[in-house]
Amino acid sequence: MRFADIPGNEGVKQAMINMARSGRVHHALLLYENEGSGALALGLAFLQYLNCSEPSGEDSCGECHTCHQISRLSYPDMRFTFPITSGSKVSGAAKDLTCDDYAPIFRELVLKNPYFMENELSAALGIEKKSGLITVAEGRAIMQKLSLAPVTDGWRGIFIWLPEKMNQQTANMLLKSLEEPQEKTIFILITHNPESVISTITSRCQGMRVMPLTKAQRASIKRDGDEGEVSQYEELFKSLIECVCARDLQAALDVGEALAGLDSREKQKAFCIFAGEGVRNLMLFSRKMESLADLDGDEDWYRSAAKKLPESFPEAASAVFSRTYTMLERNVLAKILFCNLATRLYAIAGQK
Ligand SMILES: [Zn+2]
Repeated sequence: MRFADIPGNEGVKQAMINMARSGRVHHALLLYENEGSGALALGLAFLQYLNCSEPSGEDSCGECHTCHQISRLSYPDMRFTFPITSGSKVSGAAKDLTCDDYAPIFRELVLKNPYFMENELSAALGIEKKSGLITVAEGRAIMQKLSLAPVTDGWRGIFIWLPEKMNQQTANMLLKSLEEPQEKTIFILITHNPESVISTITSRCQGMRVMPLTKAQRASIKRDGDEGEVSQYEELFKSLIECVCARDLQAALDVGEALAGLDSREKQKAFCIFAGEGVRNLMLFSRKMESLADLDGDEDWYRSAAKKLPESFPEAASAVFSRTYTMLERNVLAKILFCNLATRLYAIAGQK
């Protein structure tokens, strides 16, 4: 993966390039993105740039042995940590599993689409009905990796995807390494929810904000099978908003029913994230800041919906979607959650 292969986020790329060229590479980066924005791709491109044997001023060569190894994710001095549990593809006691058990599946997913969403990872791992965790066993496996001498003389990359899914015990194991970095070892943490990352971890990292991609940038990334899901979320989101604008509670409840019927909890969570972005766009329209909205041809729909809704709606609705997301993580029954969601949205849309 070269920087040139990744659309957008020129600021982040430049910061990484400057870091590498100045020789002052922070040993732990915390990349914060709205999911699907390319933070993992940027992290991989950075590791590749650091290790490339023929880098140009602004990018890795993409041709040398190390570039090939990193692009194929077969570079020996890299490790990927992500939330796991036992599931249909890997069984056994969840507490004993490490990401090594899932490494081939993870590698295949990243090679196919490094912009994958949380629900796509869960589906690939076969754990879509469960919440994954970064286990203590995984913490131990990272420490084990760090205790071994590197295979190459290049930079070692430890990627932690979703450090927010790490409990205190695992975090404690990693703190020392984050505090006293080893030579030529870089931690790249990628979060979708920085507030939930344990603060002792956050404070040892250099934060970098990865900006959401525009629709055009997203379109430039080849994605297999995901567009269908996104347009389904879009359709459900729009009907929900249209129902509450039309003051039709029954119709809104029907959409709630359809949401409860999405075939996995991960999809329901992905919908809540999508809807959160949607209400953010509504807010931009109601505050006459529509130039900041990330839309491509949908402006009329948002403009008209924003006009029909009270000004307080987007903020209140955003809280409703994020609360639903949290409750989904706690395994509350989806039928009840989405019925409540529709009723709440109906109520706040009526507050003039
Ligand atoms: Zn190279």
